Amino acid sequence: MLKIETPHGEDKVLLHSCCAPCSSAIIECLLANDIRPTVFYYNPNIYPQKEYEIRKAEAIRYTQSLGLDFVDADYNYAAWRETIKGMEDEPERGGRCLKCFLLRLGETARYASEHGFSIFTTTLASSRWKSLDQITEAGRRAASQYPGVSYWEQNWRKGGLSERRNQIIKEYDFYNQQYCGCEFSMRRLSSIPNKEKEGEKG
Ligand code: SF4
Repeated sequence: MLKIETPHGEDKVLLHSCCAPCSSAIIECLLANDIRPTVFYYNPNIYPQKEYEIRKAEAIRYTQSLGLDFVDADYNYAAWRETIKGMEDEPERGGRCLKCFLLRLGETARYASEHGFSIFTTTLASSRWKSLDQITEAGRRAASQYPGVSYWEQNWRKGGLSERRNQIIKEYDFYNQQYCGCEFSMRRLSSIPNKEKEGEKG
């Protein structure tokens, strides 16, 4: 198992979770390194609500199987749409995604500040479909709003975690999501050939 350390030896972390598949190997790795995550689920970007409920249920199922705390934050898609207004036609990894990360990690940092967590990180950083630079920027900017709270910049794409992720997906038979989350990533999906859609996309 990958050896990891928190920035100042913290033994707990607030983990923003985008979905169960992306959270799986990260949580396992944290526990193997004696770092206890509290799973924070704040993803108002997911559309439609039925899809949101499915993804959240899977995240709860995995978190509870490990006996960890799960924080079910608010779902407000209308507010998310307002946040990204004017950026509807941006491509993935563009300005809309940075705004989306800022909103989700901003709320994570706020919760961390109000509930005694000095560090937070996100499972978004494990996805090869997303810009790690954008996620790091969003995490840093979110943390800067709350004294005493830092964004933990662990690279979750290394150390065999991607391979372990794929194993856990099969072990738990996780729901196989096909698009990032918002309605715009969903539309893009409908415009590409079936053979390119294969594989889980968190
Ligand atoms: S594509 Fe994904 S990261 Fe980008 S705005 Fe949509 S839900 Fe957010």
